[in-house]
Formats: sequence, structure tokens, C-alpha cells
Amino acid sequence: MRQLTCTAPHEIEWRDVPEPRLENETDALVRPLAVARCDIDPFLTSGVVPLRGPFALGHEAVVEVVDVGDSVPGLTRGQRAVVSFEVSCGSCRSCHAGHTANCDRYPVLSDYGMQPLSGVEYGGMLSDIVRVPHAATMLAPLAPGLDPVSLASVSDNVLDGYRAVTPHLASLPGADVLIVCHGGRSIPLYAVQAAVALGAGSVDYASDSAESLALAERLGARPLETNFEKPTRRYPIVVDAGFTPAGLLYAIRATEPEGILQSVSLYRGDVSMPLGRLYTLGVRFFIGRTHAAALLPEVMPLIEQRRLRPETVTTRVVEWDAAPAAYGEPAIKLIVSRIEPS
Ligand SMILES: [Zn+2]
Ligand SMILES: [Zn+2]
Repeated sequence: MRQLTCTAPHEIEWRDVPEPRLENETDALVRPLAVARCDIDPFLTSGVVPLRGPFALGHEAVVEVVDVGDSVPGLTRGQRAVVSFEVSCGSCRSCHAGHTANCDRYPVLSDYGMQPLSGVEYGGMLSDIVRVPHAATMLAPLAPGLDPVSLASVSDNVLDGYRAVTPHLASLPGADVLIVCHGGRSIPLYAVQAAVALGAGSVDYASDSAESLALAERLGARPLETNFEKPTRRYPIVVDAGFTPAGLLYAIRATEPEGILQSVSLYRGDVSMPLGRLYTLGVRFFIGRTHAAALLPEVMPLIEQRRLRPETVTTRVVEWDAAPAAYGEPAIKLIVSRIEPS
């Protein structure tokens, strides 16, 4: 079968690889229909994260079930579903606690399409067939009528934006939110959408990207163009999304005393933090990965109710065969689809 493969920095091509098979009775085999490029993918394909050899690409997808093991209740061939990008068992202590990003049964960072991070190849969603272990846990069925292309990013980045604000707005209902975008491309925009949908008092969006600011404004945020030197005010809830220490420092300075700062950023190496300031002001700092399998059942109804509309963040859709070239080109949110437009 064909698998989109990164073979070296900036080298992306289709490769023929063996088709996966059912290995356990709790597995499913799925055929990806629409795949979204995650905000982290350009860092993997550019070699910022050192390569460990060729690796399969893609981890955000809507799929069609093509085969199921004997112990996957409620799942049938032909069913469309969103796949958790993180591999998790659903039955260990961490999974029971909702911490499915750190399932006890798998090595850290066990994800599709991210072999450079984990060292383990689980396959990628830009493939003809993908094996999904623990399918009852990792697949969230799609309600009839929902468009796979619109929902391609729900597996990961949409969830990431959602969880960046949801628990904090639950503890501070109606609070003002600032989202600081300094490199992450789609996640902070999904966070805008979630904050607006969940009734934030106001949503401000700080970035140095004109394209990102314009899209944030269309989603209901107030755009704040900045070079990340000095925030203009402080907020009770701040989201840090990006890759630069300057962006993080701006987000810290923009957080109110006793306020909440949620980072959705993966920083490489050690980044210094003004702990004296955080201590003195009582800023509550949260950082960590999203828990995809645990969150999908919570987010899918919001999508069915149209309270979250991920397609409004999509900036480019290409056909399946165009993936090798398109994957290396800039776009806030790229979707690769093998569904014929109706
Ligand atoms: Zn991702
Ligand atoms: Zn587990």
C-alpha cells in the first residue's frame, strides 16, 4: 500500500509498505478519508526534531472502518470515525483517570505519524490502511451527515484548542481570555472558537502574523498585533501557543495576579521561567499534552451541535495525490482528502 513518508528533512514521498493486518481481537483496520496537517508536522519534516530514519506522516484523520476484530463492540465496517492520534488502551490506571496521552501500556509519545519523537513507528494517517489497537477506545464514531473534510483535525488540534480554555472557563465563567499565538498555527485559532462558544467575556488574540490575526478576527476575537515585547493589559485566562521563549514571556506578563496561564506548546530543550514572578503573583501555570481518547466523547457532541465548526479554520484542501508537495508548503490549516467533492 502507499504511505506518505518523510525520508529526510524536507523530503516527502509516497512509499510502498506492507499493509497492516488485524493483530488482536480489539483491533480495527481503517482507511483514512481526510487528513489534517498538525501544527507540529512542519517541525518533524524539517528536521528540527532530528530524524531517526524514514517515518510515516499524518496523525489527524477521519477514517472509514474496513475491518474489525472480534472484540470491538458497536463498530461495523463502513462506519466513519475520528481516530485518537495518541495510542492508548482505555483500561489502565492513567486511561481511567482520563490521562490517555500517557497510557501506562505504551512508551511516552506513542502517536501516529510522530516516530521522530517516540522512536516507535505506529504508521501514519496518510496511508491506505492503518491499524488501530484498542479500537473501541480510540475511535469516536461520526454522526451521519458530518463531513470528514471539515472534521479532519478533530483528532488532535481541535481538541488541543478546546482543552486550552474549557476547564478554565468552567472555573471562571465569563472571564476574559487572551490567546497568544507565536508559532502554533491552527491550535490557537481552535482555542478562539472554543472560548467564544463557551461564553468567554471577551477573546483577544495576540500574534505577529497578519494572516493569523485576520482569521482570529473572523472567528470572533479582537486582533492584537504584537512583537511580543510588552502586553497592553492583563487577563484572568491566558493561552500560550507557539515555540518562542519571547512569546511565552509575553503570555506570562499578560496573566493577572492569581490568573491562569495554560500552555499548549512543546518547547525544545530547557526554557527559563520567571518563577519569582509566578510565585509572587500566584499565577497558576498549566502545561501538558491533550488527552485525545478521553476528550473525543466530550467534543463530538459540540461539533454535532455546530457549536464548534473546525472547517472555519481550514485554509487549504488538496487531493490525496497532491499530499507530497502540499505537505511542505505553508498554510494555516492544510487538509488532504480522498473524498470526491459532491
Ligand atoms: Zn498533532
Ligand atoms: Zn492505558
